[in-house]
Amino acid sequence: MISKLPHVGTTIFTVMSALAAEHKAINLSQGFPDFDCDETLKELVYAAMQQGHNQYAPMAGIPSLREAIAEKVYNAYRQTVNPGTEITITPGGTYAIFTAIATCIQPGDEVIIFEPAYDSYIPNVLVNGGVPVLVPLTFPEYRINWELVRSKITARTRMIMLNTPHNPTGSILTETDIRELERLVAAHNLLVLSDEVYEHLVYDGRQHHSILKYPNLFRNSFVTFSFGKVFHVTGWKMGYCIAPAHLMQEYRKVHQYLCFSVNTPMQYGLARFLETPSHYLLLPAFYHEKRDYFLQLMAGTRFTPLPCHGSYFQLMRYDQISDESDKDFTIRMTKEFGVASIPVSAFYQNGHDDHVIRFCFAKRNETLEQAAERLTGV
Ligand code: GLN
Repeated sequence: MISKLPHVGTTIFTVMSALAAEHKAINLSQGFPDFDCDETLKELVYAAMQQGHNQYAPMAGIPSLREAIAEKVYNAYRQTVNPGTEITITPGGTYAIFTAIATCIQPGDEVIIFEPAYDSYIPNVLVNGGVPVLVPLTFPEYRINWELVRSKITARTRMIMLNTPHNPTGSILTETDIRELERLVAAHNLLVLSDEVYEHLVYDGRQHHSILKYPNLFRNSFVTFSFGKVFHVTGWKMGYCIAPAHLMQEYRKVHQYLCFSVNTPMQYGLARFLETPSHYLLLPAFYHEKRDYFLQLMAGTRFTPLPCHGSYFQLMRYDQISDESDKDFTIRMTKEFGVASIPVSAFYQNGHDDHVIRFCFAKRNETLEQAAERLTGV
């Protein structure tokens, strides 16, 4: 068989989490909380199971969950989305992204992707016959150079992929970026795929500029979200995609033959849990405090933090410690010092290495304290 992804190995998250487990290291690599979700949420899912909600859900998701999402979207972004035709529940954010690409990328279509890029984006485009067109973010701010983007547009450019707040860098799109994007999308009739799974994790008085807020962009967009990030349940693999009806109609044609529908009791539980907005409105303050605590602890080490205004990741430079490659450095740190992180070069196709590593701070304070103590020795 000819591989469709000949240059792809095992995802860095699996590799580093396995290495962390093997060496009993504190795992600040793969992004997931080491604390549990709210008891109420579990009870609501269990209640749904007890009530017999254990068969296939409707293909697009149960109506009450889609209605709750529409209400949340209106409260957060003042945008009215139709729960009947514009929201589809998915098994996680990664699936929501893949399905959007599979829906509209034809062989030979070019897709603008910014690097460092979340590791599934490029393989998702390749597997669907598309051509990733890579645009580096500026270093060390990780901002978009719009001039460079414009220079990469061709007659084959079909889509531009965005991620705000950004994984792995924590940078966020500004109002100016949105204006640039609007001009570009209008001029070249592009589709937008906006990965906004960290929508509530924005700090330092900044604001999340969801594509949903801008009607002239939303018209051409798929916007993807994750319950895992918002409610500390990454293992449930629950998310959703929002797109205007004419795009969502096509999206559902693909979705119905990929997984058909998403597990039912969790949808009921999440629908009820969303009725209390504080369940997600308190999230920015919660993670802001964790980010600041982690930075305070790390101030006692020789790592240098880069600015991070969103997500639950903090990038650090280690140029005062070593000139090893980031891959070698993260492997050695896991083995010798017992703390696992992610080398940022893993998010570049060509392995570009700025000697920067990513830590996930979605951890209990004790975990962060222990990790920082170990890192003091590095
Ligand atoms: N999104 C998570 C991260 O960036 C990992 C998800 C995964 O393991 N595929 O760490």
